[in-house]
Amino acid sequence: MARVYTLVNQKGGVGKTTSAINLGAYLGYYGQRVLLIDLDPQANATSSLGVDKNSIRGGTYEVLIGRMPITPQILHNPRYKISLLPSSPALAGAEVELVDLPNREQRLKEVLAPALERYDYILIDCPPSLGLLTVNGLVAAANGVLIPVQCEYLALEGLGQLTQTIQRVRNSLFPELQIRGVILTMFDGRTRLATDVVAEVRKYFPDKVFQTIIPRSIRLAEAPSFGKPISVYAPESHAAQAYQALAKELLALDGIHIPELV
Ligand code: ADP
Ligand code: MG
Repeated sequence: MARVYTLVNQKGGVGKTTSAINLGAYLGYYGQRVLLIDLDPQANATSSLGVDKNSIRGGTYEVLIGRMPITPQILHNPRYKISLLPSSPALAGAEVELVDLPNREQRLKEVLAPALERYDYILIDCPPSLGLLTVNGLVAAANGVLIPVQCEYLALEGLGQLTQTIQRVRNSLFPELQIRGVILTMFDGRTRLATDVVAEVRKYFPDKVFQTIIPRSIRLAEAPSFGKPISVYAPESHAAQAYQALAKELLALDGIHIPELV
C-alpha cells in the first residue's frame, strides 16, 4: 500500500517540484516503486523529467475529471527510477471544472486508488496556490504533507496561511491530515541569513524539520533543462547527496529498512 505525500507551499519557487522529483528519484534508487503526480498546470515536474507537456493527451487533467483511468497514463523511465503522471496546460481548466463535480475536493484521492497497490510511494507536486487543486492534493495526502521552505528572507511568510488551510481541511474533510516534514531548501552556508532562517523555521515547526538541508546548487538548477533528476544528471554533486540523505531520512521515519548499497 503506497504511502502518499503531498509537497505543498503556495509560494512559488521554494523547491516543491525540485524536491518532489529528486526525493522521489532517490526513493526509487533505494528500491521503492515511486509515482510522481504532477498537479501543477505549469507542468514543471513533467518538463523537468524530459516530457513535452504540450504532447500530453492523457494526464492529471483527464484523470482528475474522470475522463481517463490513471494507470494507462503513467509514464515510466526506468533510468530515472520514478514514474510520472504528467500534467499539461489543460489542467488549468480543472480548477473551474471541478467545482461542478461531486466530491470535488476528493477527486484526486479517489482516482489514485488503483495506483496504491502498484507503488510504495506516491508524491504529489502542488501548484503555487491554495486553490481547489491544492485542496485535492491535501485530501489525497494519506501520510501527510511535506513543506519545502526556502532558506531566504521572508521564508516564514505565508506559512500561517498554509497551516490555516491545512487546519480547514482537517476540520471539514480529512481530520488525520498531518504535517509530515519540513524540507529546508536552497541553503547558502556563506550567509548569516540562511543560518538564521534555519533556526527560525525549526522554532516555528518544532520536531518537524528534516535534519537534511538542501544546499543551493547550480547543478540542481541545471538538471531540469536536461530533463533529468539530479541522481542521473550529477550524482556526485552535493545536492544529489543531500537529496539522497533526505530520502534515507524519510525511509527511516517511515520505518522502511534499506540495505546499504555500494
Ligand atoms: P516550486 O516548485 O516550489 O515553484 P522549484 O522546485 O521549481 O520550486 O524551484 C524553483 C527554481 O529554483 C527552479 O528553477 C529550480 O531549478 C531552482 N532550484 C530549486 N532548488 C534549488 C537549489 N537547491 N539550488 C538552486 N536552484 C534550485
Ligand atoms: Mg513547482
